[in-house]
Amino acid sequence: MKKYLSLCLCLCFLLIAGCAFAETYTSTAAGFGSDGVTVTITVENGTVTDVAVEGPSETAELGGAAMPVLAAAILEAQSPYVDAVSGASLTSAGVVAAAEDAFVAAGLIEKAEEVKGEDESATADVAVIGLGASGTFAAVSAAENGAKVIGIEMTNGLGGMGNAAQGMFAIDSVLQHERYGDDLGSDEQYWFEHIFDRTQFLGNGKLIRTLVSESAETVQYVLDHDIAMYLSAQPQQIAHFGETIVYHRWNNTQPFVHMAEYLEKNNVDIRYGTHAEKLEKAEDGTWNIICTKADNGTLTVNAKAVIMATGSFAGNEAMMREAMGDDVYEAAFVIGGCDGVGLQMLYDNGAAKGELLTMNHGVGPKAASTPDGGAIKVATQLTMNTPILWVNRQGKRFMNEDLLKDTVEFSSAVLAQGGFAYTIVDEATVNRWADASYENTGSWIHYWDQNGMFDENGEHTIYHAPISKEDFVSDFETLSATGDGIVANTIEEAAAFIGCDAETLKETIANYNSYVKAGKDDEFFKSPESLLWTVEEGPFYVTKGYNAVLGALGGVNVTEKLEVLTSQDQPIPGLYATGNNLSGISVAAYGNVEGVGLSTALTTGRLAGIYAAEFAK
Ligand SMILES: Cc1cc2nc3c(=O)[nH]c(=O)nc-3n(C[C@H](O)[C@H](O)[C@H](O)COP(=O)(O)OP(=O)(O)OC[C@H]3O[C@@H](n4cnc5c(N)ncnc54)[C@H](O)[C@@H]3O)c2cc1C
Repeated sequence: MKKYLSLCLCLCFLLIAGCAFAETYTSTAAGFGSDGVTVTITVENGTVTDVAVEGPSETAELGGAAMPVLAAAILEAQSPYVDAVSGASLTSAGVVAAAEDAFVAAGLIEKAEEVKGEDESATADVAVIGLGASGTFAAVSAAENGAKVIGIEMTNGLGGMGNAAQGMFAIDSVLQHERYGDDLGSDEQYWFEHIFDRTQFLGNGKLIRTLVSESAETVQYVLDHDIAMYLSAQPQQIAHFGETIVYHRWNNTQPFVHMAEYLEKNNVDIRYGTHAEKLEKAEDGTWNIICTKADNGTLTVNAKAVIMATGSFAGNEAMMREAMGDDVYEAAFVIGGCDGVGLQMLYDNGAAKGELLTMNHGVGPKAASTPDGGAIKVATQLTMNTPILWVNRQGKRFMNEDLLKDTVEFSSAVLAQGGFAYTIVDEATVNRWADASYENTGSWIHYWDQNGMFDENGEHTIYHAPISKEDFVSDFETLSATGDGIVANTIEEAAAFIGCDAETLKETIANYNSYVKAGKDDEFFKSPESLLWTVEEGPFYVTKGYNAVLGALGGVNVTEKLEVLTSQDQPIPGLYATGNNLSGISVAAYGNVEGVGLSTALTTGRLAGIYAAEFAK
C-alpha cells in the first residue's frame, strides 16, 4: 500500500512537472592539471539545458579561463565536438573527451566507432620529440641549420608549458644594454657562479656556463624571429629588487602561434596529435621512433639524430613519487605535465638516470572553489602570500617568513615540512587589512609583477590593497567547506584543525608575539619590517596551504652540446635532450633565478637544433 502511494505521488509529481524532469550525466577526463576535468550535462526532453565544467587544478589564466568558454560552446552546439581554446589545448581536449562520454551516457550520441588509421613512415635528418618551449626552438634552429626536420607533438599545438611562461633569464642581452648602457651591474661570471653555487656544486658546471653565456644570444634569436620581448621594469619578485634585472618578458600567448606559422612556411613537417612511444637504434646507427597517431595508426620516423624535448615527467605518478616521496607527493598540489615516456625511451637506449626533482613554486589552498559556487576571492592572497606567522603540522615555526619574497624559496621550505603548512592571524590583523590604506596594510606580497599590483594612483606597488572584510569572511566560509581553512575561536580549536599539540602552538605564538614586540626575531632572524602583527585575540583565521609544484625537472645528464650521457658519461651518438628533461642546472629543487626554466628551454632547444643538424650532416 505504502509502495503504491509513493508511486502515485511520483506520478502526480511528474504530471505536475509536465514530465520534463532533468537528468544529469557527469564524466571526467585527463586535462592539464592532475585532477582532470569534469563535465556535467543536464538533459531535459533530449535537450542539453546546462553544461558545467570543473577542473580544480587547471591553471587559472589558461585552462581555467577556457572552461566556461568551452561549456558555453558545447551548450550552444548541443554537441561535445567544439573547437579548442587557443593556449589551452590539453584542457580543451579533456573537456571534449569528458563531454563526449557524458553525451554518450545520456543517449544523445553514439560513440564514434574507432577506426584505426593508416600506418605511416617518414624519414628525417633530425626528429624533435615534443614541441613545447624547447622542442619548438630546436625544430626551428635545426631547420635553419640545413636539416630536414620532423616534429612529433602529442597535442594539437606548440609550446607545451612554455605557453604559460612569462619570461626568461638572460645576462648581457641587447635589451639590458639598452636599459643600463655598458655597466649592467653584474655579468656572466656573477650569474655562472651564482647558479652553480646554488647547486652546492653538484650541478653540471659546463652546462650552466653554456646556459648563462648563450642566454643573450637566445634573446637576440627571439627578437630576430619577430617575437616581442622586453626587459621587465623590475625583477619579478621582491627578493630580487636591487639585482640586475635579468627577467626578459614576452606575451606568452603569441610566441608559439607565431613559431607554428614560421615552421609551416619553412616546410617543417610537424605531426600534431602524435605520441612518440618507442625509440630503437637501427642497424645503420640511425634511430627509429615509433609513434601512435590520433587516428590510432602508427607513424615510424627514421632519423639520424633525435632531440628529446618532452618536458620531463610531472604526469608520471611513479616518477613523481620517486622524486618527492609518497607522503609529500600526496600532500602537495601538483600541476600535471608530461608522462615521462620520453625519458623512458632514453633510458631504454642506455641513458643514465639523472636527478629527478620538482619545480616548487608558491603555496596555496588546493581547491579554489566549492561545488556550490563558493570561490575564494581575496583572503588567501594575504594569508598565503605575506610574512605573517607560518607554522608546520607540529605547530612550530620553520622559516624566516621573509622567504616569501621569492616564490621558489618559501615553496621549497614548505615542501620540506611535508608539502603543506599553516598561517594564523587574529581578528585585529584582519581588521587592519580591511581598514588600512595601501602602505599601511604593511603587507607586502611576494609576487610583484608587471601585470600585478597597482596602488590607488595606478602606480606599481609591492603592497596589497586593503580588502573587504565581508569578502574575507566569506572566503573563510569557502575555505572551511573545502577543509583548507578555519575560523577558530580559541588556540585549542586552531591546534585541533592543524592536528598539533595546543600547548606547542601556544608556545610558538607566545614566542612569536615576543619577537614582534621586541622588533627582533631570535629564532629565524626575520627582518623587523616584516615583524608586524602579534596573534592575540580570537577569532583566529587559520589557512592550510599546499606546496604548488609547477612541473618536474630532470631526467638525464648531458654534455654542454646537449648529447645524452650513459652512466659512464659517454655521449650516445645522435641522442640529444633539452629543457626540463635535463638534470644538473637546478639541484634538489628549482633554482631561484628568475626565468631560469624558460631560459634553459629556449637556449638548450636552440643549441640542440644546431648540434643535431651538424651531427646529421
Ligand atoms: C604555469 C607555469 C608558469 C611558468 N612560468 C614560467 C616563467 O615565467 N618563467 C620560466 O622560466 N619558466 C616558467 N615555467 C616553466 C617553463 O614553462 C618550463 O620550464 C618550460 O616550458 C620547459 O620546456 P620544455 O620544452 O622542457 O617542456 P614543455 O614546454 O612542457 O614541452 C614539452 C612538450 O612535449 C610534448 N610531449 C611530451 N611527451 C611527448 C611524447 N611522448 N610524444 C610527443 N610529444 C610529447 C608535450 O605535449 C609538450 O608540448 C612555467 C611553468 C608553468 C607550468
